[in-house]
Amino acid sequence: MLYVNHVTKKYGKTVAVNDVSFGLEPGSLTVLLGPNGAGKSTIIKSIIGFLKYDGEITVNEFPNKTSEARKILGYIPELPSLYPTLTVIEHMEFIARAYKMTNYKDRIEMLLERFEMADKKKKFGDELSKGMQQKLNLCVGLLPDPDILLMDEPLLGLDPHAIKELKNYIEEMRQAGKTLLISTHIIDSVDMLWDKTIIMQDGQVKANVSRSEIEGQGKTLEELFFEVTEGLEPSSVKAPAEEASDADSKGESDK
Ligand code: ADP
Repeated sequence: MLYVNHVTKKYGKTVAVNDVSFGLEPGSLTVLLGPNGAGKSTIIKSIIGFLKYDGEITVNEFPNKTSEARKILGYIPELPSLYPTLTVIEHMEFIARAYKMTNYKDRIEMLLERFEMADKKKKFGDELSKGMQQKLNLCVGLLPDPDILLMDEPLLGLDPHAIKELKNYIEEMRQAGKTLLISTHIIDSVDMLWDKTIIMQDGQVKANVSRSEIEGQGKTLEELFFEVTEGLEPSSVKAPAEEASDADSKGESDK
C-alpha cells in the first residue's frame, strides 16, 4: 500500500502541492485528474523520490526514498528522457541491467512487439520520431514490471494502436494485482477500467472517490470533474476533511 501523508511542495513562492494526502490500494487503478498546473506531476515526482517536499510518503511501510521502496516503485514520465547515442534495444538492455533483471530478453521482445517498435531496435534515440520516442519511453518504464507504477500523462503523443495496446496492458497489470496511478488532464482518455479517481486543483485534492460511489450518484466522471473544479451545483461528493472549509471559496481565480 502506498500512502501520501500531508505532502506540501513549494517551488520558491509557488505552492505546487498543498497538504495532499491519499492512499493507493493494491490491484487498483487510480486516475489522477486535474487541469494543467493542478500539481499532478509534482505529486508523482514527489512519490517517486525526485523532489524534496514536506510530509511523508511510504510504500509498504518503507519511506519512499529507501532502496526497499525504490524496488517496488516504477514511473513513466510525461516527457521521454532518452539517450541520443543509444539504440532502442540498447536502451532496453541498459534498463534491464540497471534493475538487475534476469531472463529479460523475452520481455523486451514482447514489449517492443506490442508497441510496434520491434523493427526499430537498431535506431538511435535521436533518430526516432516524437511518437516513437514516446513508445520507447513506455517500453522502458514497463520493462522492470514494478508492483506500483505511476504514469504521468501516458497516452499523450501515442498513435491509436499504442493507445489501445497500453489500455489493454494497463488492464492486464490491474488484473495481476499491480497498483496503478495514471495522471491526465484529458477526461475523455479515461475509458479504461479505473477504480478510483482523485481530482486535484490548485495543488489540493478536491475529491477522492471510488467508481462505484460516482456511479451510485448517477454521475459521469466529466460531470464530477466540472462539479468539483468549477463549482457547478453543490456536490454530495466526498471531499477530504481538510478540504471542507475551502469548498466555498474556490474556482474564481483560474480563468
Ligand atoms: P500538472 O502536472 O497538474 O500540470 P505541475 O505539478 O506540473 O502541474 O505544476 C504545479 C504548479 O507548480 C504549477 O503552478 C507550475 O507552474 C509549478 N511548477 C511545476 N514545476 C515547477 C518548477 N520546476 N519550478 C517552478 N514551478 C514549477
